[in-house]
Amino acid sequence: MSRIAFIGLGHMGGPMAANLLKAGHELLVFDLVASAVEQAVGQGAKAAANATEAVAHAEIVISMLPASRHVEGLYLGEAGLLPHIPAGALVIDCSTIAPAAAQKVAKAATQRGLAMLDAPVSGGTAGAAAGTLTFIVGGDEHVLERARPILAAMGKNIFHVGASGAGQVAKLCNNMALGVIMAVTGEALALGAAHGLDAKVLSQMMAVSTGRSWATEVCNPWPGVLENAPASRGYAGGFGTDLMLKDLGLAAEAAMGVGASIPLGELARNLYALNSKAGRGGLDFSSVIKLVAPDP
Ligand code: NAD
Repeated sequence: MSRIAFIGLGHMGGPMAANLLKAGHELLVFDLVASAVEQAVGQGAKAAANATEAVAHAEIVISMLPASRHVEGLYLGEAGLLPHIPAGALVIDCSTIAPAAAQKVAKAATQRGLAMLDAPVSGGTAGAAAGTLTFIVGGDEHVLERARPILAAMGKNIFHVGASGAGQVAKLCNNMALGVIMAVTGEALALGAAHGLDAKVLSQMMAVSTGRSWATEVCNPWPGVLENAPASRGYAGGFGTDLMLKDLGLAAEAAMGVGASIPLGELARNLYALNSKAGRGGLDFSSVIKLVAPDP
């Protein structure tokens, strides 16, 4: 069993830490939000006074933070964590951030004698709670072999997609497809409903037809179609509109970097920006349906 420092106990990090505790690991945790730390302590973790204390004796450091600036702020700079992590430790950042930011932090970690992976996840809060996340990993293969038993306690699928930063590129590709599919699924259900169709029947038909997707079957945007979907609880919880907007912005930057064309990805980014401006930034991204069906 390993001594793990876990930093960032939000919607995703909280349940991921809980699964590491269930697997018998020793966790020293830190988050800026005291209630998140208290919850982890209730599950068997020990609380650190700050991130530096959390990593001081760690064999493994895991971070799950919102965006690039948080990850760079945590590890780099004068107040950064890297000099405080014991040499030889393994650092795994599971946040979704810019590929360039992941490479920058991994390079600085390597210079300090630390092994680092970018390991963003897919599977949402339900996958985090159930321990069925997909890990999308960038970094050295032999480093991933060290991380594998730890990741397996939090997820079901582990993909090695390339060198440092590649995990982030692959994650952005997935989320760009998801963002587009969710938006068009909302349009399809709104169109059917405008013709008097029952959105539940329409969804059930689509779920066994060629329009099927995670958006129809797991996170259906129409309230009441799926009892456990965010749409059925006022779009609370789940994967926030602002996080999807961040990922689509990162996809746009990544596309510009290599001159790739992503017309639908760019359109989706604008739709989620409008959804955020309409006051739904903190609600699940499936609330984007409200742009075309204000009262679904
Ligand atoms: P969240 O906002 O719920 O959690 C982030 C946590 O990090 C918060 O508790 C915050 O207090 C903490 N934090 C921020 N800066 C910190 C610092 N310097 N030190 C300690 N704690 C700090 O976000 P989330 O939904 O858990 O998402 C985390 C990451 O996972 C994001 O990059 C997101 O894009 C990605 N992701 C989210 C989902 C999802 O469904 N929510 C799914 C896949 C990937």
